[in-house]
Amino acid sequence: MHEVQGVVARSKGAPVTVETIHVPDPGPGEALVAVQACGVCHTDLHYREGGINDDFPFLLGHEAAGIVEAVGDGVTDVAPGDFVILNWRAVCGQCRACLRGQPWYCFNTHNATQTMTLADGTPLSPALGIGAFAEKTLVAAGQCTKVDPQASPVAVGLLGCGVMAGLGAAINTGGVGRGMSVAVIGCGGVGCAAVMGSRLAGAATIIAVDLDPRKLDWARRLGATDTVNAREQDVVAAIQELTGGFGADVVIEAVGRPETYQQAFYARDLAGTVVLVGVPTPDMKVPELPLIDVFGRGGSLKSSWYGDCLPSRDFPMLVDLYRQGRLDLDAFVSETIGLGEVERAFETMHRGDVLRSVVVL
Ligand SMILES: [Zn+2]
Ligand SMILES: [Zn+2]
Repeated sequence: MHEVQGVVARSKGAPVTVETIHVPDPGPGEALVAVQACGVCHTDLHYREGGINDDFPFLLGHEAAGIVEAVGDGVTDVAPGDFVILNWRAVCGQCRACLRGQPWYCFNTHNATQTMTLADGTPLSPALGIGAFAEKTLVAAGQCTKVDPQASPVAVGLLGCGVMAGLGAAINTGGVGRGMSVAVIGCGGVGCAAVMGSRLAGAATIIAVDLDPRKLDWARRLGATDTVNAREQDVVAAIQELTGGFGADVVIEAVGRPETYQQAFYARDLAGTVVLVGVPTPDMKVPELPLIDVFGRGGSLKSSWYGDCLPSRDFPMLVDLYRQGRLDLDAFVSETIGLGEVERAFETMHRGDVLRSVVVL
């Protein structure tokens, strides 16, 4: 058993605190990871606010990289000393999706079976089955993806969640390719990553849409060719005008609201693709859309889970591109902070002042 410090959300809405936690030695199929860096994601804040479920207390943090310290029986894919990015979708290899050759949709992803606890024995619920705002965490070995150890953990840990979601929404789900036109609605961390992914895939026109001029600046730096301030312009008309009057081939909705989904639906070209990667709240409904428009405009309306990534395929490849200077992950790191500053980082994130605050351990 290991006694370490971790960031815990004890009850709904209460400020998070740094607590002593107990992490078991890895059992069969598990790995103990010494965390080096972990990004602060909106989902951590949603856990704290009770927006995910009520299984308090939560051990927060899920966008991380670190070094495998020990593995349990039967673990062969990773070994102590390996540099890994943690993923929250360890595919099972046996469910309906995995068997039909689409493991990125795996319906039975797994986590560690043993439980981390507070010092008094209270079981902790790790955020997305990871819990990486901690000096050490226990995960399923399949949640560890080995990558080039020369890469900076602060930068590549971000592939563990938000940046992968955005890159994958463009490349995997949206099928963005050379010469295509793309519009990205919402330019926080995920939207900016979708802009970067579209550029990487060779899109010729990349239109960034947001209400906040600072976010439009970030998007432009990461590859947007045009920007639309939704406070000043009609979003659908502006995207059509920038695409020869037609609309974009792919529109990525990175906000997760009915109004922006409706904009995405009408801002795409005939037979175009809408990708929903922003996460809606349970009370939201699909906006009213004439069924004749759903039929008549053709194309596809898709959702993107974690960028439809396959960590074992995508993480090492993206880390290589980062090492070659073709994927600017460093641009997402607005600040590095300590474990005790997560609560403050939530406020900074909520105000939209940063792309990512990253806890360094
Ligand atoms: Zn599966
Ligand atoms: Zn996340």
